[in-house]
Amino acid sequence: VLGTIKEKLAKVKNKLGIANLISKGTILSDSFWEELEELLIQGDVGIDYSEDLVREVKDRTKREKIQTQEEVKEILKEVLREKLGRVEGMGKDLLATENKSLVVLVGVNGTGKTTTAAKLARLAKGRGKRPILVAADTFRAAATEQLKTWGERLNIKVIAREPGSDPASVVFDAIKSADAGGGDFLVVDTAGRIHTKKNLMDELGKVIRVAYKETPGWEKNVLLVLDAVTGQNGLLQAKTFGEALDLTGVILTKYDNTAKGGILLAIAEQLNIPIYYVGLGEGSEDLVPFSVDEFINGLLE
Ligand code: GDP
Repeated sequence: VLGTIKEKLAKVKNKLGIANLISKGTILSDSFWEELEELLIQGDVGIDYSEDLVREVKDRTKREKIQTQEEVKEILKEVLREKLGRVEGMGKDLLATENKSLVVLVGVNGTGKTTTAAKLARLAKGRGKRPILVAADTFRAAATEQLKTWGERLNIKVIAREPGSDPASVVFDAIKSADAGGGDFLVVDTAGRIHTKKNLMDELGKVIRVAYKETPGWEKNVLLVLDAVTGQNGLLQAKTFGEALDLTGVILTKYDNTAKGGILLAIAEQLNIPIYYVGLGEGSEDLVPFSVDEFINGLLE
């Protein structure tokens, strides 16, 4: 398993193009700092955050009398590690619990919620859990069908009702099934149609309230599924969800599809909630736990 994770992480390499900048020369000049800031901005780190980072790294470089670009890279890694480390729960293993778990996935349609639900259930199964996939996007019949297909393929139980059913009642069914001994790790796929934003948030709020009330003593998480390709715009979506719901973390999808690796840093900085997993492909095995060190190293290599 570790070998394949390493292979997948290879897709993360040098997403900010900083290694290329570093190889250009070793003397620290004004243009070096400008280019570094430019790369960070292009890499979706965000304008203000990029400026802050460069300023902080530059200050430290002066203080520590550093003269080569190679050393600057190490300082940048340190600064980023510190910043990400400050977000509580970052890098925590959600599967390392003896308790029953409920994970509600929320996010805009197309971000990869359904696929991620299947991936997460598969990871849980691999860790000896008994996952249940919960089809609480009752608005789109296709979403339920997609989840059922994943369930068959991965041999994982799926709880669903007919289209148009109350999503909270599907979750309720799944909790009853778990309570009756049918499973211990619930992954809930929810609706994500944004053209009816208020209704959607009300519906999700209700699903979460019902689910939390019915699961005393369980581990509970509401994770926002965010598409890395949407970059800074995706962060605006994230704010909308974050204002309406108590998000406990983020899963970043399609990280394999973007050259802009800095979105990871922007999420941690702006949302101040942990990133738990990163999606690196369309297959059910393409989800890796987020590890600060591995990602920072890969990003700058
Ligand atoms: P939903 O509408 O949010 O449930 O999104 P889906 O799960 O249906 O995913 C939308 C598309 O994104 C599908 O074609 C998935 O295969 C694809 N997808 C999901 N996660 C990833 C990922 O991490 N990487 C890549 N490359 N594609 C992904």
